[in-house]
Amino acid sequence: MPARIIDGRVLSGRIIEALRSEIEQLAEQGCEIRLVAVQVGDNPSSRLYLKSQQREARHLGIAYELRQLPAYATEDDVAELIDMLNDDKRVSGIILQMPLPERMNARRLQWRIDRLKDVEGVNPANMGMVVYGQPQLAPCTAMAVYELVKDCHGDIRGAEICIVGHSAIVGKPAMLLLLSDLGTTTTCHIGTRNLAEHTRRADILVVAVGKPGLITGKMIRPGATVIDVGINRVPMLDQAGQPVLNERGRPRCRTVGDVLFDEAAEVAGAITPVPGGVGQVTTAILLRNTVQAARWQFGQSKIPAEHS
Ligand code: NAD
Repeated sequence: MPARIIDGRVLSGRIIEALRSEIEQLAEQGCEIRLVAVQVGDNPSSRLYLKSQQREARHLGIAYELRQLPAYATEDDVAELIDMLNDDKRVSGIILQMPLPERMNARRLQWRIDRLKDVEGVNPANMGMVVYGQPQLAPCTAMAVYELVKDCHGDIRGAEICIVGHSAIVGKPAMLLLLSDLGTTTTCHIGTRNLAEHTRRADILVVAVGKPGLITGKMIRPGATVIDVGINRVPMLDQAGQPVLNERGRPRCRTVGDVLFDEAAEVAGAITPVPGGVGQVTTAILLRNTVQAARWQFGQSKIPAEHS
């Protein structure tokens, strides 16, 4: 039987609805929530993501500001801007838009963001709380994976969970969040021998790699829940297998995940589509983190102690 398609809009809609009343209450008390995205140069690959952040934030009544530095800006320029935003009482949350120019140390800049404004959860203090099973501002995509699994799979305890991908912002924190609920987690990566041996055991399979077609139908356990995090742009092909060209003679592209969707949907019990799955929920978590950061700032909830 074909898999149930997990529409990320449903869960993201619920998360956003729950935020609406909180934001209204804050607004009634004169508290304005402000999210600031810092970008260096103009990157076409992040343009879409930025637009959707902006649209969703404004729709909820969160002020959204894009601070764009020129492509020739230095790492010191970015650090200076982050420091200024950290100190600015009107700013609730800071996003440092990736990718940054290669000459910059992205991690050093991410770590500079005040942990209480770090709405993407990339600061070591926020990462650390995930290790302790007490997430405060957790990395958004990892949290989106966790919330999707809880929502569509139910009880995680004891489930065999395979996470393919061990990056610091997606694979590892997603593994830790699922482990906190007593899932039996296996993390696979570029060094894993016989990937299929692990993926086929999984009741829940999370794939966050960035390689289209990495996971085929045969690698999935019948009835498994499949969460496809990958975002890849691939050329569209016509029925003869030739690239479809646009009006300018360039190949037309479409967005796919890491899982061969049609094959996987024949085997899995439930599967997230790309686009329309994890990405939708990630934006909702980003906004939820922003509201949490604002509540700390406006004294509406207790600021978590750094060493409690
Ligand atoms: P990354 O490049 O930092 O990490 C890739 C991971 O894949 C590594 O752990 C690597 O060891 C593993 N890997 C590479 N080749 C492999 C192979 N052949 N077999 C098994 N493992 C392999 O990537 P990332 O930042 O974690 O992102 C992963 C994907 O998720 C990308 O496609 C990215 O665009 C997407 N992404 C989506 C969202 C979203 O909101 N939906 C957010 C962030 C990232």
